[in-house]
This record gives sequence, structure tokens and C-alpha cells, in this order.
Amino acid sequence: ATPTSIMAGSGRSAELGILFKGGEHLEATHRVNVVVLDKTGTVTKGKPELTDIEIANDADGRLLARIAAAERRSEHPLAEAIVSGLAARGVTAPEAEAFQAIPGYGVQATVEGRELLVGTRKLMAERGVDISAVESRMFELEQQGKTAMLAAVDGRYAAMVAVADTIKETSKEAVAKLLASGVRVVMMTGDNERTAQAIARQAGISEVVAEVLPEGKANEVKKLQQAGNVVAMVGDGINDAPALATADIGMAVGTGTDVAMEAADVTLMRGDLNAISDAIGMSRRTMRNIK
Ligand code: ADP
Ligand code: MG
Repeated sequence: ATPTSIMAGSGRSAELGILFKGGEHLEATHRVNVVVLDKTGTVTKGKPELTDIEIANDADGRLLARIAAAERRSEHPLAEAIVSGLAARGVTAPEAEAFQAIPGYGVQATVEGRELLVGTRKLMAERGVDISAVESRMFELEQQGKTAMLAAVDGRYAAMVAVADTIKETSKEAVAKLLASGVRVVMMTGDNERTAQAIARQAGISEVVAEVLPEGKANEVKKLQQAGNVVAMVGDGINDAPALATADIGMAVGTGTDVAMEAADVTLMRGDLNAISDAIGMSRRTMRNIK
């Protein structure tokens, strides 16, 4: 495209809250045929709320306080939902020691001399915690689109907590527009398969890659590229940065983290995913102007 048409295209994009880092990204965007969407904070609002607490084992009545103590040390949006949900229910958290975040799995800490573990079924399996008694209930919550997390104390299953994150009002329309313009839409998440499918269904997305570990997201993008696709990755989190950098076009949701914006080629200032088809449309028009 000519410098003039690129200037004009960049200007019009900026008016729509779409900030291309350089003219080459505005040019390249028209080739995109697959859009990969991160789930939490991209398709969804990213403000999960605590919806369910199901206690199996709490001999001294300190279980919820200990869970709050461990999660208070985590920066994950799921942890924030658990902490504020428990605080709203009158739970006060003591201090946690030996805190460790286990990315993609959960957290662990020592609280009041007890070993706390909160996270996924895989985390429990790896640490030898038997969760067979709650497996079917966990499936039910996940089928509702909730993220269910398990808590164990001293290696023994103690409780399940679930949080719900709802899709943005605009996500369904934005996905429909992308599909109508001939672009494939794939949702990618570290969350489990059932929760991911439930959220994807609400947004009108049929292709889902779930249970992707933080370091695996970039690799999923690479696989799509190796199959001959030109991939745009859209994400908001620190976890998404390597995938944003790997994609042909990385699009950061401007309501997310600075790390995501640094790794991306484009920032979508509004959280609204309609900006993705606006960006592709702007690029297509810019390229057409040169011919
Ligand atoms: P996402 O891609 O949705 O941001 P992550 O890869 O960060 O998901 O996390 C994957 C899963 O690990 C979560 O769905 C949750 O079950 C578990 N998990 C992550 N962080 C925590 C935490 N602080 N407390 C409990 N569980 C967690
Ligand atoms: Mg996210």
C-alpha cells in the first residue's frame, strides 16, 4: 500500500480504538484467515464471581479461612474471585506461608500449619489426592460454564469452589461477523474442556482448544501456522504474551495487562471483539486502495 493509504487507514483505525504499532501490521492483517481468542478476559468479561462452595471436610471450621489465605497471595483473576467472594461471606484470611503459584494448575501454601492445595483435577491427581467422590458434581458445575476448583488439606480432599465468568455482551455478535467474513474462529484456554465448551457455545464458537498450559499457547498458534494458516491471536493476559508474539498478528485487548500490549502488533482499546473484524476490514480496504 502507499504511505498515504496506510496513514489514512491507521488514522481511521485509531478513531475506532484500533492501534496498529506500524503500517506493516495494518497491511498484513488482511491476510488473516484464523482468529484465535483467549477465553478469560477476551471472550469473557474476565471478572469471575464465586458462585458455589461445597465443603466435604472441615473438622475445625477453619477451611474457608485457609483457602482465602492461600488465594490471597495469588494474582490470578480466579483467586481474586475466591478471595472477594469469601470476604463477602464474612471469612477473614490469616497469613499464608510457603506460598507457591503453580501456573495452569493452582496454588499451594502452608496455613496454620496445614498444607493447602487449591486448583485443577490434574493438580489433585499429581499430588495423589482422591477426588472420586466429587467428580460427577464437578462435571455438572463445568457444564454450566463454571470453573470448579478443588481444595485439599494435608493431602486430603476438603472442598470444591466454583466461579462463573460471563461472556461480554458483544462477543457473540463479534464472532458471528468474523465467521460471516470467512474467518475461522478458535477459542483457546487453560480451563477445562467442559467449561470451555459451555462458554464457547454461548459465544457461537465451535472450535475449542482447552486445557492448554500457559507455555503451550504459543505452540498451538505455531501448529495452526504450520497447517498453512495466517493467524491472529487475541489475548489480554501475561500468559498470552508468547502466543501474541508468535502469531502473524498479535492483538492485545487494551483492558488487559501491559505485558500483552507490549507483545502484540495491535491494541484493541475497547474490550469489544467487534474491533477484530473492523481491523481486518480496514486492512482489506487499505490494500484494495493500492490496486
Ligand atoms: P486461563 O487460560 O483461563 O487464564 P490458566 O492457565 O491461568 O487459565 O489456569 C488454568 C486452570 O488452573 C484454571 O482454570 C484453574 O482451574 C486453575 N488455577 C489457576 N490459578 C488458580 C488459582 N489461583 N487458584 C485455583 N485454581 C487455579
Ligand atoms: Mg485471559
